[in-house]
Amino acid sequence: MYVGRFAPTPSGDLHFGSLVTAIASYLDAKKADGQWLLKIDDIDKQRVKNNSVQSILKTLESLNLFWDFTESYQSHRLEEYEFYFEKLSEMNQTYKCDCSRKYLSDNAKIGEDSYIYPGFCKNKGLKNYDNFATRMEVNAIPIVFEDRIQGKLSQNLSKEIGDFIIKRNDGQFSYQFSVCVDNKLDKITHIVRGADLLLSTPRQIYLQNLLDFDIPRFSHIPIATIDKKKISKSDDFKILIKNNQKDIWIKVLNFLNQPISKTVSQMNLEETIEHAIKNWAMEKISPLHSIDVF
Ligand SMILES: [Zn+2]
Repeated sequence: MYVGRFAPTPSGDLHFGSLVTAIASYLDAKKADGQWLLKIDDIDKQRVKNNSVQSILKTLESLNLFWDFTESYQSHRLEEYEFYFEKLSEMNQTYKCDCSRKYLSDNAKIGEDSYIYPGFCKNKGLKNYDNFATRMEVNAIPIVFEDRIQGKLSQNLSKEIGDFIIKRNDGQFSYQFSVCVDNKLDKITHIVRGADLLLSTPRQIYLQNLLDFDIPRFSHIPIATIDKKKISKSDDFKILIKNNQKDIWIKVLNFLNQPISKTVSQMNLEETIEHAIKNWAMEKISPLHSIDVF
């Protein structure tokens, strides 16, 4: 059984880039006769904005993107995160880190995905104080996976990333860690998301292997940009209000390079979506990491 999901962060209204991810993950699940879940990534309290969840749910419903079951919230899963965090801690491959951002930017090399952590605190033997981050030790065995859109990717965690944070110094679990537990709890089989997360996938595979979780299939779709920059909330606001729901769907289908029937102008929203599911072809999506729109 295919189980996919859309996992927005409630840091504002959905923008064109997030709608692309929502619609791509929805179509891939529906084409496979699968389930499509909605998970609200609200663990990072600094990024959560008031009323944003309501606005996200409303936007999805207005686009006829109806999720299966009740939506889940990362903020309701702290006990489960703690349970698996303890499991990782018992493996003796974690340690505390007190490096500041400033220290790292002055002393660590920048890699493809942020700085490469060279293990400054590995042998410091820092004790369990609340204001220290917890890092996961990695190794040099390459992590290889086949992305359905981006193709084969191989990453050597110790060379390209370094020991990475699973719990931050403010006590919050990191994205890399929480998302693995979410996939386990939700029995996710397929992940369709933006290519900005491509280089973090090997860290998630590493944790999933350690915890003996099943590894989902990954598909990383290009990020929507304007003048090569990620779309900002204000740009999107204009884009969304001047379009009706069907136009948004067609804009997204165009972005995803999907076949669109010449008779689409005579279709209503439901028929357009039916057509999109029937003709969904992930292999037509460009393997670029970003594409300029508008
Ligand atoms: Zn450190």
